[in-house]
Amino acid sequence: MYHHQQYQGDEIPLVAGKAVCVGRNYVEHIQELNNPTPSEPLLFIKPTTALVDISKPLQVPQQLGQCHNELELAVLIQHTLSKVSPEQVRPALWGVGLALDLTLRDVQSELKAKGLPWERAKSFDGACPLSPFLPLCEIEDLQDLHFTLRVNSQMRQQGYSGNMIWPISQLIAQISQVFTLCPGDVVLTGTPKGVGPLLSGDHLHLRLNRMQIDTQVN
Ligand code: ZN
Repeated sequence: MYHHQQYQGDEIPLVAGKAVCVGRNYVEHIQELNNPTPSEPLLFIKPTTALVDISKPLQVPQQLGQCHNELELAVLIQHTLSKVSPEQVRPALWGVGLALDLTLRDVQSELKAKGLPWERAKSFDGACPLSPFLPLCEIEDLQDLHFTLRVNSQMRQQGYSGNMIWPISQLIAQISQVFTLCPGDVVLTGTPKGVGPLLSGDHLHLRLNRMQIDTQVN
């Protein structure tokens, strides 16, 4: 069972639940994979068993083709949200952190071509490494956050939450119409451009505001 952590602080008294993820929330990433722009958020879920501590070496499945990084802003839910309006979202959040939406891209392409669900590509054990979280009191504007991923010291992804198609409050309100969000659940808000394969031994450096995380691929 994974417990959420506060960055440079104590364990957060929230046990990890599910991760609800949005598939296409940044225009430039939609373009890099030649996907159509959706008229409503494309949603999928990673189960509790996918959530792991990002600072531990990342376990990437072998012999299943390329496993891509998707660096995403992760929002930690503190209070239950069901069928709420965007105005009701912020008071129910604990804070923000970073997640990797690990994606077996070759597997996903095959599933997409056949019109099949994506769980084999995105919801396997360990498919959702999570950073600790920064408390919401440190975050003035959820749509003014910069975050980066360097792989072996090379900049790979630079995200800015102001570029989201669906801002966080609106996105979470929409999710809550379909899936009740419970304390300890996280919402992954989509990846900016810059996805690419992760290789054994790669060193990853992630940043969000004052938070800096180092990890590696096993
Ligand atoms: Zn993603």
